[in-house]
Amino acid sequence: MSLSAVLDGDGDLLSLEPPCWVPDSHATTCTRCKAGFRPLARTRHHCRLCGSIFCGACSAGKLLLPPKFREASPQRVCVNCAALLTPLQPFLAGTVSHAVQPAVHDVTDASALRSWFNPPMAASLAAELYKATNIVRSFAAVGSRSPDKAIPAAILDGAAGFAILSVAKGGCGWSVAAGTGLVVARKAGGSWTPPSALGFYSCGWGFQFGGVVSDLLIVLRNQPAVAAFCGTLHCGLAGGVNLAVGPLGRQAEVTMQVGLAGAAMCYSYSCSRGAFAGVSIEGSLLTTRSDVNLNFYGRPLTAKQLLMGDNVSAPVAADALYTALDDLMARAGALSAERR
Ligand SMILES: [Zn+2]
Ligand SMILES: [Zn+2]
Repeated sequence: MSLSAVLDGDGDLLSLEPPCWVPDSHATTCTRCKAGFRPLARTRHHCRLCGSIFCGACSAGKLLLPPKFREASPQRVCVNCAALLTPLQPFLAGTVSHAVQPAVHDVTDASALRSWFNPPMAASLAAELYKATNIVRSFAAVGSRSPDKAIPAAILDGAAGFAILSVAKGGCGWSVAAGTGLVVARKAGGSWTPPSALGFYSCGWGFQFGGVVSDLLIVLRNQPAVAAFCGTLHCGLAGGVNLAVGPLGRQAEVTMQVGLAGAAMCYSYSCSRGAFAGVSIEGSLLTTRSDVNLNFYGRPLTAKQLLMGDNVSAPVAADALYTALDDLMARAGALSAERR
């Protein structure tokens, strides 16, 4: 069925099939505003719904397309098509977006090359979910193998959320670090909120040389810590958030329980491969990757809506991560129950 049939009222937009794209040679001007195309200044763009050619200004929006287009990410459409598609967006976000597709990569084992190394930059939230699941599983595995290296149950118990990142740092004197990850909060009932994508950048100066890739797990202890991750830009986790390098093992467990370890809102744990001692979170820049969230959920959602709201349902794609987090928490819960 073609778009013209839909416009004539003979068809349903939801059962529309992908069009044949108009060849570039067929248009020297924008189909809508008739402005001529020029190198760099005004280039050709195809509308993914109608297949015609438009200038950038007349095809600025990205929206989810009907199911037969088999596209889980929002695609570029012209202004006219955007008007047609906009009312369908809530329905499409619940049926075709990445958030409602089950995760395909969900094992951490040596047969999957991607389990060997967590790339510091991931382009999509689906990739972040896989990476975060690996990181949580590896922290849980270390904890159960050697209790002296475990994250103390006193820190995990009652955690309000987790930020899970992998960060690459390198340099000689000056160093730069960058990485990506996600943040997920724990609801009152013990279930998890939808994840929100995070970016991390920092630069520093000191006696340092080398390169390292670190997996970071930051335990957010309370709601103010979760709120600190809800803006679009969080400078070095400043603004009232105090972050401490998380203590490890049984000794820390005892100190935490008698309340000597202070009351930091966030505790960071890292697992590094390389020559640097670790990654400092302070003096760095954390951002919400809104474009990555938009691509995954198929609609613009703020980190606050995801982490503190109640209107977005948890994506199926995050099931493996939720199971890994539940395991980590259950182990800590069992350990605290044992002590009581
Ligand atoms: Zn135009
Ligand atoms: Zn169009």
